[in-house]
Parts: sequence; C-alpha cells; structure tokens
Amino acid sequence: MPELPLERWINPEILAQPAYQVKISSHRIKLNQNESPWDWPQPLKEEVLRRLGQAAWNRYPELRPQGLKEKLAAGLSLSPEQLVLGKGSNEVLQAILRVALPPGEILCTLSPTFAIYRLLGEQQRARLVEVPLTADFQVNDKNLLAASKAARITILCNPNSPTGSLLPLELIERVARQTTGLVIVDEAYVDFSGVSALPILEHYPNLIITRTFSKAFALAGFRLGYALMHPQLAAQVHKGLLPFNIDVAAIIAAEVLLDHPEIVAERVRLIIRERDRLIARLDKMPGVTAWPSRANFFLLATPLGPRETFAQLAERGILVRDVSDYPGCAQVVRVTVGTPDENEALVQAVKELL
Ligand code: PMP
Repeated sequence: MPELPLERWINPEILAQPAYQVKISSHRIKLNQNESPWDWPQPLKEEVLRRLGQAAWNRYPELRPQGLKEKLAAGLSLSPEQLVLGKGSNEVLQAILRVALPPGEILCTLSPTFAIYRLLGEQQRARLVEVPLTADFQVNDKNLLAASKAARITILCNPNSPTGSLLPLELIERVARQTTGLVIVDEAYVDFSGVSALPILEHYPNLIITRTFSKAFALAGFRLGYALMHPQLAAQVHKGLLPFNIDVAAIIAAEVLLDHPEIVAERVRLIIRERDRLIARLDKMPGVTAWPSRANFFLLATPLGPRETFAQLAERGILVRDVSDYPGCAQVVRVTVGTPDENEALVQAVKELL
C-alpha cells in the first residue's frame, strides 16, 4: 500500500505520539494491569444480568445517571452535583483537560507517573512540566511546589503508578493552596493506601479527585470511573464529555455491586497483606529489590534486568509489566499483587530464574 500523506491529514502532536500499548503474551497468571485478581461472585453477576434483561435496549441510557450518582455520592457524603461519571477515569481526565487546559499552558505531573497524562496533555498542545522523583521514587516537595505554582493543571497520582509511592496529604494541600490552577489527585489506587484527599475537598475549590471502578472494585471490563469536585466545576467538565457516555450495563453493574462494599473491603485487606508479604519475601532474595508500595502493585528489579525478567516470567506463564522505558525505571518491571496462589507462583518463579 502507498504511504498516505498523514502530515496533511493528522495533527502533528498525534503523529508524534506512540500508540498506547500493553504487551500481552499467553499466560496463566496475569499480573500486568493492576486489576483485581478476583471476579465478582456468580450470584451477583446473575443479578446484574437479570436487571440488564429487563432494561430497554432500544432506549438511550440516562443522560447523566442520577440514581447511580446519588448512590455513589451518598457513600462519600457528597452531593450528586459534585460527581462526574466517565467511561473509566481516563475519560473523565480527558474531559477535564479538554475543558480546562488551553494550548501552551502548563500541565505539571510527576515523573515517572501514569503515561496517559502526558498523552492527553500533548493532545491539548499543553506545555508539559514533569517533576522527577528521587532515585527511590519519592517526591521532592520543593521542586513540586515550584513547578506547580504557575501550572494551569497539576496531576498527582496518589499512590503513584508505576512506583506505588505515596504523597502525604499535607503536600497535596500545600500544592492546592499555592497554585493558581487546578489540582487533580488521581486516586485510582486509593483503597490500597487509605490516604485520600476527600477530607480536604471542601476546603480547596480548585481540587479534583478522580477514582475508578477498575481496580479494587473489580469492574475493569465495564469501564466506569468518576471525578469529585466543586459543583460549578462539575457542570463545566460535563461539557467536555459526549452525552450518554455511560451505558446501561455499566450503570446496572455498578448499582448492584455498590450494595456489597463488604466484598471489596475484605479483598482490599487481603491484597494489602499479600502485597507486604510478597515485597518482604522478594526483597530478601540475593540481588533482588522489591520497592515498598502503598498500591496493589510494586516495582521489582532482579539481576537479570527488566527485559529478561519479563521474558523469563512469561515463559513460566506469569505476565508482568515491563516499565523500563519509563523515566527512572530502567531496571524494573511492575508486578500486580495477585491471589495468594498466584503470588506464591511468582515467588517460586523468581527463585528459579535467579
Ligand atoms: N489512573 C491510573 C493511575 C491508572 O493506573 C489507571 C488504569 N491503568 C487509570 C487511571 C485509568 O483507569 P480507568 O480508565 O480504567 O478508570
């Protein structure tokens, strides 16, 4: 096929971007996307299917699902007007940047952090200012405060991905207090850290919290996320979303599953216990470093280096994430905490490859 004149048809910032990719090889143990290792219990899935069977498939879903918003908001002691729902938190992030980040303005993030922020920022033609973490993946307060001061938007992933490190709430507060712009705290993994900016939301009208159903809530397949913010901001962010963005299936699934917070809580407890146990065991092995984490994943370095570690684990049916192309991550892979059996298999596999 002839080469198309893409420079004439496609925006330059898109042409310059690599496509977002996830390297998937055949596996029996999936530890590469920070998902929940447990699906929902069958009786609850059947309840979702029953309600989906009764829904009218020929009709649009609600423009902005009020029942779901009320249920979610009540659980967080907020008002539904403070909530924006998206097809995954990614979509809400995109909407916020679309309505609030003009070309040439500064988007401030940590580095390394979740790769999507940079992609979305570039698509807005923003100026990216990335604050490097220290060699052990901690934030330098002074650098962050200096860089975020004049930023139009600062995004702080807390706990951060792919590092699992945590920003103290006091620092987030200082950033929110001193910047002239908005501050987004991405709390995709908040359930595993227990540190949320929610208690300070009402004190900082420029603060936005994004969350997802894809991780602790075990609903990645349905694509549902949300953001919490001042109602006046929420009204504007809605303009950055297409109407009817949340489909009937996601609304029903979330409504059914929100009635069972005890399942999520129990699983979160188990993941945290497994995480700390796994990191301690791996870190003791000769030449192996497993970094402390407050999320449901952690960084791992072995003497084989990241490429070979990924390949050797893949050969044993274990899929992890090679993040060695992230800044400051040249030596590491990222591992999601799995079920106790999966974690045991990982430990045995790492022993073998040493
Ligand atoms: N933020 C972070 C830090 C993530 O790791 C992810 C998922 N990889 C997301 C947001 C997006 O999650 P979703 O769109 O599934 O809600």
